[in-house]
Amino acid sequence: MEIIVLMGPPGAGKGTVSESITAQGKFKHISTGDLFREAVTSGSEIGKEIAGYMESGSLVPDNVTIKLIENIFDSSNKEAKFMLDGFPRTIGQAEMLENALKERNGIISHVFFLNTKKDVLIQRLTGRRICKDCKAIYHTLFSPSKVDGICDVCGGELYQREDDCLETIENRLNVYNKKTASLVDFYKSKGSFVEVDVNKKPAEICDEINNILKEN
Ligand code: ADP
Ligand code: ZN
Repeated sequence: MEIIVLMGPPGAGKGTVSESITAQGKFKHISTGDLFREAVTSGSEIGKEIAGYMESGSLVPDNVTIKLIENIFDSSNKEAKFMLDGFPRTIGQAEMLENALKERNGIISHVFFLNTKKDVLIQRLTGRRICKDCKAIYHTLFSPSKVDGICDVCGGELYQREDDCLETIENRLNVYNKKTASLVDFYKSKGSFVEVDVNKKPAEICDEINNILKEN
């Protein structure tokens, strides 16, 4: 099993970059945020529990998150390659991932750290729109759809995530600084850590990452 990790604060562009990298067909995309949103939409018991955390911008507890990832690993074949987007998000999750990989002979080949300034993150998050059907990501100013509210790719309806409102964004950024930012040092000390400048066009960022992935 080979893993690459995309980390960075909300709004850094993990979703956009992972769309492009998974389009290359090598890595399977695992977004804990997307999986949790699906659980919430399904209306299951666990979905109801998760909804409370997500609406306020807090983290879903580690034990719930970790179980989700282990289930995916255990239902995949041993040669699978995954791109983790939004996981790990705490030191506890990162340590669990180390253990889970040790048990399954897996490695983390790269950790890509996407980062930019707070005001840029807020601007990106408040303007973000997502297709209900194919999950393509747009921005009202930086990458608007051709027809307002309609996806260019599939014609689906665009929506704004409930947690992309200013108040919740502030909380998500605080949670990131408190719980996730320390993962940078955790992974820096382990090597294969790549800091990516995200103040460029998405296509350039994706080329940079794809070129690094091609090297090995
Ligand atoms: P963003 O990175 O833009 O905040 P995500 O879709 O990755 O968006 O996450 C949305 C929400 O889902 C988070 O605010 C949190 O409540 C929950 N979540 C996602 N990933 C994790 C995780 N690894 N651990 C705990 N909670 C998570
Ligand atoms: Zn679409």
